[in-house]
Amino acid sequence: MNKLFDLNGRTALVTGSARGIGYALVEGLARAGARVIVNGTKAETVDAAVGRLQAQGFDARGRAFDVTDEASVAAAFAAWDAEGIEVDIVVNNAGIQFRKPMIELALADWQRVIDTNLTSAFIVAKEAARRMIERKRGGKIINIGSLTSEGARATVAPYTAAKGGIKMLTRAMSAEWASFDIQANAIGPGYILTDMNQALVDNADFDKWVKNSNPSQRWGKPEELVGTAVYLASAASSYVNGQIIYVDGGWLAVL
Ligand code: NDP
Repeated sequence: MNKLFDLNGRTALVTGSARGIGYALVEGLARAGARVIVNGTKAETVDAAVGRLQAQGFDARGRAFDVTDEASVAAAFAAWDAEGIEVDIVVNNAGIQFRKPMIELALADWQRVIDTNLTSAFIVAKEAARRMIERKRGGKIINIGSLTSEGARATVAPYTAAKGGIKMLTRAMSAEWASFDIQANAIGPGYILTDMNQALVDNADFDKWVKNSNPSQRWGKPEELVGTAVYLASAASSYVNGQIIYVDGGWLAVL
């Protein structure tokens, strides 16, 4: 493999990686040579994902915790410290969607979506970056945004606010951490075939809208995000900081 993209000797944590985009990313980073840590909310599904990775010969471990819970995140990093595991690459991928017209939206639902999609990236990256700065070996932070980092749609206000926030939080991370050789960047996926979108895929009108709006005329697949993640996790992106790269089949490029 081209050394520029080689992740051997690196340890990558991908939040929300028991399934969906997160699983594709954790598997892709492992294939590029990284030791990987799987996360999700449930121990059973995390263990199952770790088993699938280990069966392919990858160096994988897992830990279930809620990325919105600061104490649980701190406990996870403390446990890795005790085991001598140093996280060099963090992918803040865990996220949820919740659809409701704004005038009917309860504050608790707004808060839950903001906490899971935006505040979690702050909580997890803070724990990781503090250690990266102390180790003086740099590091990589990759936040998962969305097309809604750029544009709004009806019924997903908190998700849109959170993903817009991810774009600016990524820049804030660069402003504070670039001088420590930490590159913080984001990926903005287009509409990707995962559980999160199953209801939309099953809706014939929405499916048609996706295919008609996108110059690629199709949904994306989770594995199509892997190349960008490996690039942003590797030495190949050593002077790339604060960017959000859209992997959307060209959607944002057209009218
Ligand atoms: P899925 O619903 O398929 O998977 C979400 C993952 O996040 C699951 O592993 C889930 O864990 C985990 N998760 C949710 N909440 C928490 C939490 N509090 N703590 C820890 N883990 C949590 O989603 P996708 O794979 O589709 O989405 C992944 C990311 O990509 C999200 O940030 C999403 O916003 C973003 N994205 C997705 C797009 C798409 O079209 N699918 C488009 C643009 C962005 P568990 O398995 O335990 O439930």
